[in-house]
Amino acid sequence: PLSLLKDPTLLKTDALINGQWVSGSSRFAVTDPATGAHLADVANLGPAEAETAIAAANAAWPAWRNKTAKERSIILRKWYDLIMANQDDLGRIMTAEEGKPLPEAKGEIAYGASFVEWFAEEAKRINGETLPQFDNNRRLLLLRQPIGVCAAITPWNFPMAMITRKVSPALAAGCPVVIKPAELTPLSALAVAELALRAGIPAGVLNVITADADNSIAVGKVFCASDVVRHISFTGSTEVGRILLAQSAPTVKKLSLELGGNAPFIVFDDADIDSAVEGAFASKYRNAGQTCVCSNRFYVQEGVYDEFVQKFAAKVKTAKVGNGFEEGVNQGPLIEEAALLKVERHVQDALLKGARLLTGGHRLPGQFFEPTVMADATADMLCAREETFGPFAPVFKFKTEQDAIFAANNTEFGLASYFYSRDVGRIFRVSEALEYGMVGINVGILATEHVPFGGVKQSGLGREGSHLGIDDYVEIKYLCIGDI
Ligand code: ADP
Repeated sequence: PLSLLKDPTLLKTDALINGQWVSGSSRFAVTDPATGAHLADVANLGPAEAETAIAAANAAWPAWRNKTAKERSIILRKWYDLIMANQDDLGRIMTAEEGKPLPEAKGEIAYGASFVEWFAEEAKRINGETLPQFDNNRRLLLLRQPIGVCAAITPWNFPMAMITRKVSPALAAGCPVVIKPAELTPLSALAVAELALRAGIPAGVLNVITADADNSIAVGKVFCASDVVRHISFTGSTEVGRILLAQSAPTVKKLSLELGGNAPFIVFDDADIDSAVEGAFASKYRNAGQTCVCSNRFYVQEGVYDEFVQKFAAKVKTAKVGNGFEEGVNQGPLIEEAALLKVERHVQDALLKGARLLTGGHRLPGQFFEPTVMADATADMLCAREETFGPFAPVFKFKTEQDAIFAANNTEFGLASYFYSRDVGRIFRVSEALEYGMVGINVGILATEHVPFGGVKQSGLGREGSHLGIDDYVEIKYLCIGDI
C-alpha cells in the first residue's frame, strides 16, 4: 500500500533531532496489522538521543519564543495547509500501520489538521491582563508566558491527531517540543514532522524520538527526570499515566494526561431508538472499538430494551470487517495480538456469567474480531469494569434513572459518556449527575477541535483543544509595578 504514495518522500524512517534526520544505531520493525506485512524499519533511539533532543529544543526555545505571535501563527497555518494537501498520502500511511479504514484515516488527518489550524488562530489570542490596583501608586499586570520545553508521548490509536493536539498549542504558545510517538505507529508521526519542516518550523523546535517498547520506557524516564522539560503531555493507558506522574514528582513537572475511559451509553425509555442505534454503532465500532471515548457499556431502560437490543444487533450484523484499504470496510484489524486476547477474555467472561450472544463473538483469521453484541450483561462481568478497547458491546438492562446514573458512575474512569433522551428535564439532571469530562446527548461522536477534550477521576488531567487548550502550555506571571 505504501508504494502508492503520491509523494514517497513523506515516508520517513529516521528520527528527527534539531532539524536533522537521525538513523540511530539500531532499528525496529513496523508492520501492517491487517496483513502482518513488514512496512519499514525505524530508528530506535534511546536515553542519550532523548537528552540531545531536549538540549536542542532548549537551545531553539529563545528564538521561537521571541517570534511574534503572528509569525508563529503563519508557520502553523502553513503546516495545516501542507497536511491537508497531503491528506491522501497521510491517510494511506496511517491505514497501513494502524489498520483503520482509509476513509476513517483520512478523517483523522482532517481532525488532526484542525488542531493545527485552530491553534494557529489561538496563537494570536494569548492575552495578558491588567488588574485593578490596590494602591494608586501601583499597577498590576499578568503575563502569560510559554512554559518551556514540552514533551509529548502519544498512542497508536490516533497516530496523527494526538500529536497535533499536543504539539500545536505548545508551538502556538512559544514552546519547543520533543515527541515520542507510539512504537506501533511511528510513520504517521514522522510524515507529519516532515511537513512541519517544510512549513518552516525551525530546527530544534519540533523533534521526534522514535523508539521501540523498551526504549520508550527509558525515554519516558529521561523526560520525567529532566529539569529542562517543564511539561509532559501524555495520551495512553491509565497505568502508564500513573507511572509518568510518579516519575515526575521529583522535578515537580506539569502534566496533561488523557488516559483510559469506560464510557457508558445510556438509552432511556423516552429516547429516539433508531437514532440511539445509529449513535451506538458509531460510538462503539469506530477504529474497531479502539478509542478511549468508544462506548464500553450500554445501559438500556426496560421499556425499550428488547427493541434496542434487536435493532442494534441487526445494525451491527451489517458491518463489513476487512483490510482498511478495501472499499466499504467499516472495521479493520485490531492493533496487535494482545488486543484480540483482551476482547476474547471479556467475551468469554460475559458468556460464562450468563450474557446472551446476539451477533459476533469470535476471532477471524489474522488480527480481526467479529463485531459483537451481547444482551443481559451484569455488573460482575469484566466488561462492566475494564475498558475492552475492541468491538464488543455488552448491553445491560436498568429500571430507573437513578440506577443508570449509579451504574454509569460506578468506575474509577470519567472520560466520555453518552445518553439518549428527549426529556429536557432528564437531559439536565443526567448531564449534571454524570461524573465525566464529556457528555454526548443524543449523539455518539462528540470530539472536534474547538471543544475541551479530557476526563475527570482517573481518566486524566487537563483539557486539550478549545480556547482552554493553551492553558497547560503557559505560565502566569504577576507583575506588581510601584512608584507610578
Ligand atoms: P496503549 O494502551 O494505548 O498502548 P500505552 O500507555 O501502553 O497505551 O502507550 C502509550 C504511549 O506510551 C506509547 O507511546 C508508549 O510507547 C508509551 N509508553 C508505554 N510505557 C511507557 C513508560 N513506562 N514510560 C513512558 N512511555 C511509555
